[in-house]
Amino acid sequence: MAGKLLQILRDSRYTTVLSGFSMLLESGYPSIRDGDVSYDIEQKYGYSMEEMFSTAFYSTRKEQFYEFYRNEMLSQLETPPGKGFVEMARLEKKGLFQSIITRRIYGLPERAGCQNVINLHGNVYDNFCPHCGRKYPMEYIRDSVRVPLCEDCKTPVRPRVCLFGEMVDNSVITRAAGEIQKADVLLVLGSNLKSYLCSQLIDYYDGDKLILVNETPHYADRFADIVVHERVDDLLEKIRVELGD
Ligand SMILES: [Zn+2]
Repeated sequence: MAGKLLQILRDSRYTTVLSGFSMLLESGYPSIRDGDVSYDIEQKYGYSMEEMFSTAFYSTRKEQFYEFYRNEMLSQLETPPGKGFVEMARLEKKGLFQSIITRRIYGLPERAGCQNVINLHGNVYDNFCPHCGRKYPMEYIRDSVRVPLCEDCKTPVRPRVCLFGEMVDNSVITRAAGEIQKADVLLVLGSNLKSYLCSQLIDYYDGDKLILVNETPHYADRFADIVVHERVDDLLEKIRVELGD
């Protein structure tokens, strides 16, 4: 299968990748919205992750928002991008991938070395003062106490990420749609076709090479032209080995 996929990628003039949630799990990041982790968070803070990571909560309870955000989200950044992202960056360098689109906000593709990445929901490395526009690095938020304030105007600094209840920036959606419209091959990695990531974007794809790689089978798999039920990181590694790199 890796050999067949490599051939398709080589024949493709433009390949766009949708990088899904499972790639985050394969990198060792916990799913803070499900199971034990989400239960523990609710016990610890008295609110669910969805409640705290929302625009309403941010507006009214900034100190608690930042406590949660630093402790449960920014602390994850100590985990480096996993093999899947590293292989993705190597394949992009080899010219097999032209663009990568994700909803995840930890900047994993970029940290692994990917170049042309569209972060639909922003990313935690991009922080700004909503009043004067001054930019701040992630470390400024991570190392802050209580609420991080702008050094110039004392306004709370915020991450340029999409909180629950906020709209995705229209210009970002337009860019992503453009990347998909011009793709010969649309490669969906670590997601099913009914996920938010895919359902928002897949209609823009006009080609006949929608390739889906996801370990877990899903009823919507039949809408893909090629389906591979395998871990993304293992498959990308096999493709790179086939490439003889
Ligand atoms: Zn400011």
